[in-house]
Amino acid sequence: MKAKVYKFGGASVKDADGVRNVERIIRMAVNDQMSNGLMVVVSAMGKTTNALERVVELLDAGKEEAALNQWVDIIDFHVAVMKELGLQPGSDIRLQGEIPYDPTLPFDENYDQIVSMGELLSTQIVAVYLLKQGLSVEWWNMPKLLRTDDTWREAKVDDEASRAVIRAGWDRPRRPQIVVAQGFIGGTADGKRTTLGREGSDYTAALLGNYLDAESVTIWKDVPGILNADPRIEPDTVLIPSLRYQDAVELAYSGAQIIHPKTIRPLENKHIPLCVKPFSDPRAEGSRIAADGVGPVDVPVYIWRKNQILITMRAKDFAFALEESLSEIFEIIHRHRLKVSLIQSSAVTISVCVDDTRKVSEAIEELRQHFNVTYNDHLSLLTIRGTTPAILEHAKAGRTIMLSQTTRRTARFVVKEN
Ligand code: ASP
Ligand code: MG
Repeated sequence: MKAKVYKFGGASVKDADGVRNVERIIRMAVNDQMSNGLMVVVSAMGKTTNALERVVELLDAGKEEAALNQWVDIIDFHVAVMKELGLQPGSDIRLQGEIPYDPTLPFDENYDQIVSMGELLSTQIVAVYLLKQGLSVEWWNMPKLLRTDDTWREAKVDDEASRAVIRAGWDRPRRPQIVVAQGFIGGTADGKRTTLGREGSDYTAALLGNYLDAESVTIWKDVPGILNADPRIEPDTVLIPSLRYQDAVELAYSGAQIIHPKTIRPLENKHIPLCVKPFSDPRAEGSRIAADGVGPVDVPVYIWRKNQILITMRAKDFAFALEESLSEIFEIIHRHRLKVSLIQSSAVTISVCVDDTRKVSEAIEELRQHFNVTYNDHLSLLTIRGTTPAILEHAKAGRTIMLSQTTRRTARFVVKEN
């Protein structure tokens, strides 16, 4: 029998009730005796990652007192959850009093040391709670097991090194049935913690699925599965029960918040199915992504990618060569680690839509040395797959469209956010 991997996101462990529900779901799997061990990957509780990011920003701005208050709030929140679950803060679970911050280090390195605390706390709570409920559990410290380089905030995983230690830990005799591990975080060879990029826990689950040759990876979410649109935006959504890996990759890159884009490859390589299921209804079918999936049938799929900026480069002289300019532009974009969501070119302009992050302005500065650059921010990218003319008309109504790209089945609009 093969291992199973379960991943619980922040929403599924946002409070004590969430942790109890996680226990219920895990117990179901254990009772079904369907697998050789359960690898449980857990994110930080609720909005803890955002709160920890705020701590780093405050420290960086020299606002130590505000940072400390914010830190204490985060610890207090976890202590309250522990008490509600009957756990002893300080003895059952280690608590870090001091913020792991070193003002001489770069922002991004401090970020990883501080933000990784969210997963370290949540997983200890879940593991100790499961243990106290009589389950056979072990807690894994991923900064020591998932080996990465030191690309802070977007660390690259060393698959070979990680697979070796993780397999050794998993395959040993008398390993407890359930292993609880942090998503999203890893560590360097010299013992520093790293993070894999926001929302990276899905990716961790997929890597572990790959290393363990798992039977399946299941992501437990606060939605019934993969829907054809965001239920907060579109009133009538439908569940897509079956997808191929390539559908899922497209959805993820278009901005669907449902799974992290890096999740698919490690699974596809080994033909491991990815299930997305509602944690509020564990027996529900949800969605299944696999090599033999069928894809969305007869429903348009709407995907929003928010917080976009559209940068347009215009040639400074008439000796404009598209090929040369493209390679120049993408070299700069790649070096500043911008995430490109759409590209369009005309005779003398090139437009790229990218995620609007702190790195964008530096890249624009540099692009200005080569091109006349203009930009529009506060934009969203709407991708509609499986469109018809009627759907397009409806989607465009009342929106300011900055740019559009349509093929027979897919339409993409860069629109102003309202
Ligand atoms: N806790 C991290 C985040 O919120 C990772 C994750 O949830 O996947 O970005
Ligand atoms: Mg999360």
